Parts: sequence; structure tokens; C-alpha cells
Amino acid sequence: MRTPYFEIDEAALVRNLEALRAVRKEAGCKILLAQKAYSAFCTYPLISRYLDGTTASGLYEARLGKTRFGGETHVFSPSYNDEDWDELMLYVDHIIFNSPTQARKFAPKAKAAGKQVGLRLNPQFSTQRGHGIYDPCGEFSRLGTTAAELPDDVANLLDGVHMHTLCEQNSDDLEATVDALEERFGALLQRSKWINLGGGHHITRADYDVERLVRVVRRLKDRYGAEVYLEPGEAVVLNAGSLVCRVEDIVRNGMDIAIVDASAACHMPDVLEMPYRPPLQGAGEAGDKAHTYRLGGPTCLAGDVIGDYSFDRPLKIGDELRFLDMALYTMVKTNTFNGMRLPSICVRHTDGTIEVVREFGYDEFERRL
Ligand SMILES: *Cc1c(COP(=O)(O)O)cnc(C)c1O
Repeated sequence: MRTPYFEIDEAALVRNLEALRAVRKEAGCKILLAQKAYSAFCTYPLISRYLDGTTASGLYEARLGKTRFGGETHVFSPSYNDEDWDELMLYVDHIIFNSPTQARKFAPKAKAAGKQVGLRLNPQFSTQRGHGIYDPCGEFSRLGTTAAELPDDVANLLDGVHMHTLCEQNSDDLEATVDALEERFGALLQRSKWINLGGGHHITRADYDVERLVRVVRRLKDRYGAEVYLEPGEAVVLNAGSLVCRVEDIVRNGMDIAIVDASAACHMPDVLEMPYRPPLQGAGEAGDKAHTYRLGGPTCLAGDVIGDYSFDRPLKIGDELRFLDMALYTMVKTNTFNGMRLPSICVRHTDGTIEVVREFGYDEFERRL
């Protein structure tokens, strides 16, 4: 098969979905797919057998969720506008506002259309270490309303509340954040029909403490009589896909450098943005094995470097390499910088057969310009 391509691993996806379904049952909560992490809708018929619906970051994801997934469709956006409003109302069941101004403007219209309305709260409780750009509780954050900025007339409009403060975190951080939420917004929680705890719950990671999550959810349900929602993105597709590429050249400049046909900048931009070093099948850390290479993409960007890896044998031009954990925040973030071709999208079904779902060419580059 022509590289580069994403390969979605259906068996791994099913393992994640079974774990999430168990949480749903144990805790008695609803779980939505956060589409911003993963929107490969060819797998929505499968995922929708396990989860309650989707959440969206805006109009287009809401439309995809409504038309391709079904179930409940939720949306949170820092701002909604008049131009998109009527169409958005066709798709969503729950709409979450970010500010009192947005809630005052749109909540009455949403309620008149029979929608559930909520406000994203900022519990002002940071639990993230390191990744400042992923911390909505950071100083001067625009995401969520703080207790000091929430007037009664806005609180009175709400059916439920929303928070999203975690990123790749365990349930001890959730528990501490929920304590902060209750302390700051207890009276509002008493009146809420539902509480949406956002995403960032790394539920399908091996060391995740599911029992604590179940306790936190049950406590909220018991104390407030509210429905509880979780909306993970990453956890749904954690370790459920790879990106396969090929070595196209090997050069030397103080170390061995392999140029591959996948680009960090175009095909896995979080490698540079977050940043992180993706796992590579069969390879070790630099220096662990006999032959160490820096792997870089075929674009003109000097920083288009995926990372340093070591191998038992020297790499050869034409070798295929498989980056792991490549289903999340990759296909949704690809771009055609340098006129790069987008990786194909394939699904490895549970019976071992591989289906090519999408192949891309020049058109994707030209149509956007
Ligand atoms: C990003 C996001 C999610 C999903 O987060 P993950 O880290 O992928 O689980 C859920 N809800 C909201 C509002 C988000 O912004």
C-alpha cells in the first residue's frame, strides 16, 4: 500500500469502547465522543453502539455528529454567531455557552427551540503540570466563567453546567477538581439537571483508576440528582491507530538522519505543538539499540523532526516504519503545507482485513487555496 497512511485498529478501538461502556454502566453516566480528537466517521457506526452520542466544537462537528453518529449531539464553543445559529439548532440537543454575554444572547432562543442549555464553568483549579497551552484554568484563561463573573440572571437560564479542565489525566485530578467545582458553584449544582465533566479523562490508559472515577460520578449523581456526562476524545481511540511511512533517504550531519515520507508538521502536528515523541514500533530511545537515527519529514521546515530513535539493524531506504498511537489528534489536524499529500486512511477490521477508506491527491491541496 502507498505510504504514508493511517491505519485505524478496529480491535483496539473495540477494547477501548468496551472499557468505556463498563464505566457508563458502573457509574450510571453518559459518555460522548469528543469529535475534535477523532472524527474518522467511517468508524462511527461501531462507536455509536457503545457511546451515547457526540460532542462538537462548533457547527461542522455538530453536523458530522448528528448526521453520521446519531444519539445525543452536544456543542461547546467559546462563541456562537447569528450566521450559523439556525443551522446549529438543526443538529444539537445540548448547547454550552462560555460566557454570560453569550448565554444572555442565545439561551432564550435555544430554550424556545427545545434545547438544553448550559454554561462552561471555570473552577479555577489547575491540575496540569507542564502543558500550559492545555490548561483552561490558567491565568487569564478565556475558557469558562469564573464564580465571580456569574450573575444570578444567567444562572437562572441554565439547565446544566459544564467544565473541562483536564488533559490526559487520572481520576485523582478529576476528584480534586470536582471538589473545587462544588466549593465555588455548589448552589448552582443543586439546581442543575446535568453536570458535564468534559474530557481529558485518560480512562483507557492501563494505570487509570476507574473505581475512583465511578465514585466521583456517583457522588455527584447522589448529591445533586443530576445526570452526569463525560466527553472523552483521546480515551476513545487511545492506542487504536498507527501512521505507516517509508524511509526515502538517509543523510549524515553529525549523526544519521532518515528522511521519511510522513511529516511532523503536516501529518502529526501535535508532535511539534504539544510537543511529544510518538512511539515507533520496534524502536528504542536514542542510544538504546545499536543504530540511532533522527527521523524527519520531507518538508522544507528545518524543525520537521519527529524524534530520535534507535534500531537493532541499520535502516535502509524503502524500509517501512510504523508510528503508534496515531488515531488521536492526527487525522483531524493534518494539513497540506509544502503541498504535501495527505496520508490515506485505512481500517484494519477485527478479522484482519484492511480497508482503504480514503485516498487523497492534488485536489485537497488546490481546493483550499
Ligand atoms: C478537547 C475537549 C474534549 C476532549 O478532550 P480529550 O482530552 O481528547 O479527552 C472534551 N470536551 C471539550 C469541551 C474539549 O474542549
